[in-house]
Amino acid sequence: MRVVADSLQETLRDLKARHGMGRGLAAPQIGAPIRLIYVEVDEPWFLVNPEIVDIGETDFHVWDDCFSIPDLFARVTRAYGVVVRYQDLAGETHEVSAEGALAELLQHEIDHLDGVLIVDRPIGLDPFCYREEWNKHRGQEKRHGDPEPRWTPKPQPVV
Ligand SMILES: [Zn+2]
Repeated sequence: MRVVADSLQETLRDLKARHGMGRGLAAPQIGAPIRLIYVEVDEPWFLVNPEIVDIGETDFHVWDDCFSIPDLFARVTRAYGVVVRYQDLAGETHEVSAEGALAELLQHEIDHLDGVLIVDRPIGLDPFCYREEWNKHRGQEKRHGDPEPRWTPKPQPVV
């Protein structure tokens, strides 16, 4: 675990230095099939076996990107707020609430543990955009939408 953790941190820092982007990385992205993610927003943060145990009542759309598909943006829907339970590297269990940018980042990285990528979650019309296009034409656009009530199918009456 420690070896993979170190290598995740090193890889993310290297990617950041080379691309000027990147807030998190999941172990499967460096070929290690374990349930470990690494997030570096303010402080280095390792989450072992992270699971989403609660979501709020709103979703928002995100133009998301990913080191596994570096040239592409995809519009996806994420819960605006999540509660995530995980263990730290010492095996201690924690629960954290996150909103907005941090919430979508955690959902993105946890998706990687299940082999799910942003291209598996496109929403709406025209949900993909090449990075080059984005920078050229849409660079000023917001990457995050506003929180909206989650869409759920209405139960149909049985006739
Ligand atoms: Zn990713």
